[in-house]
Amino acid sequence: MFQWAKRQLDRISSPTLDWVQVEITTHCNGSCIYCPHTIMRNRWVSRHMPIELFNELIPFLGYTDLVYLQGWGEPLLNSDFFEMVRACKARGKRVGFTTNGMLLTEDTIQTLVALQLDIIGISLAGTTARTNDRIRKGSNLNRVISHLEILHKIKAEMKSQVPAVHLAYLMLRSNFHELREILPIARKVGAQQIVASNLTLIVDPKLSAEAIFNDTERMDYYRNTLEEIKQRAAREKIVFDYHGPGLEEASVCCRENVRKACVINIEGEVVPCVLTNPVLCGNREATHGKTPRHTFKDQSFPLRGMSFGNIRNESLTRIWNKKEYLKFRDLFDPRKTGKPEQVHSKMPECCVTCYKRLGA
Ligand code: SF4
Ligand code: SF4
Repeated sequence: MFQWAKRQLDRISSPTLDWVQVEITTHCNGSCIYCPHTIMRNRWVSRHMPIELFNELIPFLGYTDLVYLQGWGEPLLNSDFFEMVRACKARGKRVGFTTNGMLLTEDTIQTLVALQLDIIGISLAGTTARTNDRIRKGSNLNRVISHLEILHKIKAEMKSQVPAVHLAYLMLRSNFHELREILPIARKVGAQQIVASNLTLIVDPKLSAEAIFNDTERMDYYRNTLEEIKQRAAREKIVFDYHGPGLEEASVCCRENVRKACVINIEGEVVPCVLTNPVLCGNREATHGKTPRHTFKDQSFPLRGMSFGNIRNESLTRIWNKKEYLKFRDLFDPRKTGKPEQVHSKMPECCVTCYKRLGA
């Protein structure tokens, strides 16, 4: 009886979220040069989310339209991946994930189409193999494109519109000149959407120079090129979105949808965004308790995890409605925010020192 009443109460006060992002693995077969998984390899904890923990989330799926299976890792490495997709689809949810594309065998693709997966995001960091494979070590652009061509063919054979292919291009100073060539690739693989994003978590200080928002002298070039690609894409009915390219210094917004979405990490912790995911703090014992750091505006800051609760112990409704979580989300509420200096003084350091807060 008590359990029943608890469930009813949970349902009444349940939030409506745009999506729930679930980190189902921190293992990866790639070694991208900018990724904390690579840079912090000595302290990285590689783990899969067990299906039992994922199942604890199932009762809360009613809150959201989209479940996005993504964290700091390659989702296809979790052997329960298909089971997880199936469980979400069985509850009428849209499901998506982002992959490096290397494990998309014909069998895997057949299964994804048969399961009616909704979105497959493909990460790229160049439109030539030379550039992409240098930055995304362990990836092979030509192979990824051929996998996507197979996906395109199988979708046509199975008369399926899904999964929609989204290309996620990481813009860096050293690969920006190749971005124009993303459209022919998108056309070739039948991609509907392209998102060009920035390097916002800089764990290796040497990579600061690669972030295009730090290349302030060429901002007009970046902006004009991005707008030109956007217009060309629109003519081909491809959505092209980009972040930045520059920083909005007075901003109190956050590029992540923290007010209407959340991330559930590999351990079941509910966190506002991937940048506050406690997995980034890694295994302290491996580095004698030293805190990992990131670079923001040429200064070094500790990486700090944040969690508002764990779905092993509490319902997502209860966690979402906690006072401290509400207070955190209010910091990003455009109706409630005051002057930037006032808001910044209330923000946790991880947000003050975050490029996503500046629109990057
Ligand atoms: S594929 Fe993704 S998780 Fe793996 S190293 Fe590259 S960026 Fe990191
Ligand atoms: S400002 Fe940065 S750290 Fe803070 S919630 Fe947004 S993305 Fe996460």
